[in-house]
Order: sequence, then structure tokens, then C-alpha cells
Amino acid sequence: MPKHIASGLKYLATIELKKKGLTQQKIAEELGIDRSTVSHYLNGRNLSWNSIAVARTMTELCPKDFLILTKVLVKDAKKAQKIISTCQNKDFEAEVLDSCIGCGLCVDLCLMEAISLESLKANVDSVGCCGCLLCQEGCPTNSIKILEVNNDREY
Ligand code: SF4
Ligand code: SF4
Repeated sequence: MPKHIASGLKYLATIELKKKGLTQQKIAEELGIDRSTVSHYLNGRNLSWNSIAVARTMTELCPKDFLILTKVLVKDAKKAQKIISTCQNKDFEAEVLDSCIGCGLCVDLCLMEAISLESLKANVDSVGCCGCLLCQEGCPTNSIKILEVNNDREY
């Protein structure tokens, strides 16, 4: 069953990338799967519709749960990152306060690899951020604030 749900997640990402106009070959490269698998997904073959329904429900969970479940099911960090950034339909931005001491803990905590240290201060790539809040919750000096862009809601 976990393998089928992982396929459901890849199916959802395939559909989203197709909507953006990517070719089957490009979708295959983006998701790290065979082009023939992409073709099967787009033609509705070899699919468990229950698994797709479960996968769709996962995309509606809070970002942290969606991230962690996807990482566990897909078992490949880069593929999981791509699925999450493709299927996550919210945008986030981060504010790093001057109290940041450059310890790098948030860099290690970020499963999306969206944080780097620049001049001993955390720098967040908002394109890669999925809003999981692991960095905000783990920062020892409370120096990261993650905001959902569309409604300015602070978690
Ligand atoms: S965990 Fe906090 S203090 Fe440490 S680098 Fe990240 S933002 Fe700065
Ligand atoms: S909220 Fe923080 S830990 Fe989560 S993806 Fe965004 S930058 Fe990374």
C-alpha cells in the first residue's frame, strides 16, 4: 500500500507538471521516473484510484505532515522535494531576524534544503520552502518567522 500511495503522489505531480505545459520527457526528468510511466499516468493506466485519493488527501494536510509523510513514502529526498513543491499550492516567505546567530541548525532541519547560511546568517529560498515550520520551531533564538504569502497568516 505505501508503494501505491507513493505512485499516487507521483501521479498528482505528473498532472500538475502537465498543466504547466511540460513534455512527457521533461516531466519524467523532473520527477526522476521513466517516460513510459509518465505516459501511463497521463492515460490513466496502471493506477490505483484509491491510492490517488489518499495521496490527494495528503496534499491537504498541514505542510509539515505532508512533507514528512511524503518523505517516508517516496524514500528519495530529491523526488519527495519535487513532489511537495509541485503539489503544494501555497506560497511562503521567511523573515530572518537580526538575532540569528548563524548556528546552522535550521539548515540541517530543513528537509526541503531551502536554507543556506550567508555571512553567518540564515537565508531562506522561498521558492523551495513548503511552510513546514521545522526551522521556526527548532531555532534556538526564535529568529525565523514563516508566513503564508497569500493571507499573511503567521503560524
Ligand atoms: S537556527 Fe536560528 S539562529 Fe541558527 S542559523 Fe537558523 S535562524 Fe539563525
Ligand atoms: S518552513 Fe523552514 S524548514 Fe520548512 S521548508 Fe520552509 S525553510 Fe525549510
